[in-house]
Amino acid sequence: MTPTIVTYPEGDESAACTITALPDLVEGAWCVVTDRTPFHPLDPWWPDQPADRGELAVAGKARVPVDTAVLVGVDVASGAMRLNADKSIKRADAGWQWSVGHVVGRQAVPELQAGQSIELFVDHAFRKAIACGHTGCHVAAIALNAVTASYWDKSIRLDSLGNPDTDQQLIDESRIVEYGSVDRYRIGKSARKAGLASERFWADFDGFGAAIERRANEIIADIRRISVEPVGTSFRERRMWKASLGDRTLEMPCGGVHTADPTTLLPMSIRLERLGADEFQMKTFVPGA
Ligand SMILES: [Zn+2]
Repeated sequence: MTPTIVTYPEGDESAACTITALPDLVEGAWCVVTDRTPFHPLDPWWPDQPADRGELAVAGKARVPVDTAVLVGVDVASGAMRLNADKSIKRADAGWQWSVGHVVGRQAVPELQAGQSIELFVDHAFRKAIACGHTGCHVAAIALNAVTASYWDKSIRLDSLGNPDTDQQLIDESRIVEYGSVDRYRIGKSARKAGLASERFWADFDGFGAAIERRANEIIADIRRISVEPVGTSFRERRMWKASLGDRTLEMPCGGVHTADPTTLLPMSIRLERLGADEFQMKTFVPGA
């Protein structure tokens, strides 16, 4: 079985496809694995963007709900399939391939079989809200890097604008929500060892939120085009988010989905909040439909 080709990176919301397997992995439901899919499954290794939901239709029949999309691991040697919610298999483990399963109630479609042609439809309103939230999250990260650049006493990895990548260095958890995101950052021993002037950082922290918001809105206004590349590959492929900004291209590794029209994200707002001694949270909000 070849792994599912995913078409969400280019923003696809529907696909005609073929069922390749129906493993018994979700109690009381079909897990419909297909040769291609526009559905984004939850990434167990970096679960920032939630799974798509939507509908499925067998040719000539009414659409039925797809509750969620899951990542299905296929053991290359034995063909055995499993979900990987516990992340016990490494993403890059060559002994496994990754396909996408669509969870559909068994009562909704009594009969399905491998080889059958079906159509898949992603819930447009939810997808749009998540795509806008995800793009806002990336722009906020780049703005955070710009505003906190002078707080690193040693050199760390730079982002695509040439600023120290504070976001990647400190991020602990990222959650994309509808028209927004919530990112948590940790300033522990490893951040201080990497060169973060943490005392100075916390002393100036209260001014960061407004400065990041200003910078983020300037960046959005200058973005001309957004893409996620490469396209036409399986889940395993590493993808990059690319945004053209004047004569530069912003780049960030990303397995998610983004809005093609950044102007709808203006004006974006950002709230920064300290959580305890060594953590802070950045919330972003972009305008809804
Ligand atoms: Zn991303």
